[in-house]
Amino acid sequence: MSSLSSTIQQVFNEPGCAKNQNKSEAEKKKGCTKQLQPGGAAGGCAFDGAKIALQPLTDVAHLVHGPIACEGNSWDNRGAKSSGSNIWRTGFTTDINETDVVFGGEKRLYKSIKEIIEKYDPPAVFVYQTCVPAMIGDDIDAVCKAAKEKFGKPVIPINSPGFVGPKNLGNKLAGEAILEHVIGTEEPEYTTPYDINIIGEYNLSGELWQVKPLLDELGIRILACISGDGKYKDVASSHRAKAAMMVCSKAMINVARKMEERYDIPFFEGSFYGIQDSSDSLREIASMLIQKGADPELMDRTEALIEREEKKAWDAIAKYKSRFAGKKVLLITGGVKSWSVVAALQEAGLELVGTSVKKSTKEDKERIKELMGQDAHMIDDMTPREMYKMLKDAKADIMLSGGRSQFIALKANMPWLDINQERHHAYMGYVGMVKLVEEIDKALYNPIWEQVRKPAPWDDPANNWQNRAIAEMEAEAAALAADPVAAEKARRAKKICNCKTVDLGTIEDAIKAHSLTTVEGVREHTNASGGCGACSGRVEEILEQMGAITVEVITDPVAAEAARRAKKVCNCKSVDTGTIEDAIRAHGLTTLAQVKEHTEASGGCGSCGERIEEILDSVSHGNDAGSTLVAAE
Ligand code: SF4
Repeated sequence: MSSLSSTIQQVFNEPGCAKNQNKSEAEKKKGCTKQLQPGGAAGGCAFDGAKIALQPLTDVAHLVHGPIACEGNSWDNRGAKSSGSNIWRTGFTTDINETDVVFGGEKRLYKSIKEIIEKYDPPAVFVYQTCVPAMIGDDIDAVCKAAKEKFGKPVIPINSPGFVGPKNLGNKLAGEAILEHVIGTEEPEYTTPYDINIIGEYNLSGELWQVKPLLDELGIRILACISGDGKYKDVASSHRAKAAMMVCSKAMINVARKMEERYDIPFFEGSFYGIQDSSDSLREIASMLIQKGADPELMDRTEALIEREEKKAWDAIAKYKSRFAGKKVLLITGGVKSWSVVAALQEAGLELVGTSVKKSTKEDKERIKELMGQDAHMIDDMTPREMYKMLKDAKADIMLSGGRSQFIALKANMPWLDINQERHHAYMGYVGMVKLVEEIDKALYNPIWEQVRKPAPWDDPANNWQNRAIAEMEAEAAALAADPVAAEKARRAKKICNCKTVDLGTIEDAIKAHSLTTVEGVREHTNASGGCGACSGRVEEILEQMGAITVEVITDPVAAEAARRAKKVCNCKSVDTGTIEDAIRAHGLTTLAQVKEHTEASGGCGSCGERIEEILDSVSHGNDAGSTLVAAE
């Protein structure tokens, strides 16, 4: 087995990944490695993913070993920002040609590294492998090693050729490369008990700089950001940090977990999007640093800063409430943590008519339901035509989404705001949320909408393409309503898994035919959720709706209590309800941090924090079933 394929296998079986944590022991043993399918890299190849993850390291020369198109495809397409060096934005490529394919491209690669070092003298050169040189057998590890010895500079091989898989795999392979060749290779000039790493943050539109001043004020130092506005030396010495925050994207979970394992740097998964999330993340950073030896007064200062910043943010947002009264938003974020944006938009007085949940976890969906009510319009997958109709019928006044959907809003003559990675505004932290509200206001009240909504003098409103399209959709909907057989056929034809092209009917039939009860079983029989895995939550819901996942009703109160106590609260650290309740009672615990200290619960990704707060609340009020039983005895 080549070292690249064993690295890929390791990355797939990452124990820190939430999907793996939720699997049974038997499923875990099977691992996650899947046969790659043609087209699996259509949304971005593994090389692209590796480049996205590391290019924000600003003082490094990023050299792409391959045909020029690989570099052209991936160069600076995300809008990360640098506070210093600009060498990262220079596109370096070996631009290999037919002769190299015949005779090998290693010499050309070596010469390119030499030229970069002589002309630019960067602290390190990162060399990215791509499909063509990988297929002709160019050994970039050997060339990088030889160049490093000859020129006395770190030359880092990033072995993530496009064909090995999708973008997300490339993010993780990039992480493996820095774990192996960069992290721990240098020492910081000094250390403090307040040093943290931020992992998986790319400083898009410079948004990290909206949070950094707050950390500076608290005396917390970002020892290394991997990789937004990062410097080579900082990453190389990042193993001396006391704690780490992994920004909610799981792109670099392997880096966070392995740094915890190798260097005893605990991490949590947090986000600086939204006011509540920003506060929670600041609290968690302070709490982790205190546990690692920082002065406990840090928490008081953090709370004071949170109170001040939250007040400023809500005061700034308050003036928009009257302008936003009755305005409705359609939020298409892809689903990752969309609830944190939902909460902030609601506070600003906007009404959410729907939000996408395509990539949301079950917990994310529950959170959205809490915020938007049980009837929340959660959109798994909305066709462009459906989005258009929703906007055109004025069921939404503005759409917030990524760039790909913008033309739908613009065709409907409705305002649109970019909230994905290509955006030009920074929405992170407290000021970021205020900025988001400001931008929504500007988009909603832009006078251009009045102009473009007026029909052109030559236009026949009764017969323009917009009205024809809407009439066509309405006719289709009416036909379906009148024909239950056709309606059922359309319902069953709804695509659930886009990667493997599996529809609802196929999944329902397989569940019935094989009495399936798990997502894994459905995957085995239909291939659904066998690609990017984003639809696994949806598959679980189908299982639930069909009653395939049975909720056992326990009539024996003692057995019911045992089952309740055995319910897992913290998946990362495998802590159940009973353990937490016992610890709260035995030690008189009153805070999440104390529960964590005594039981380890919430010491992983931190997503169970809210559930623990509820348990704390219920035990302190004597509402938990445990206390009722004790009282009854
Ligand atoms: S690495 Fe391969 S898949 Fe990716 S852009 Fe280059 S040739 Fe295409």
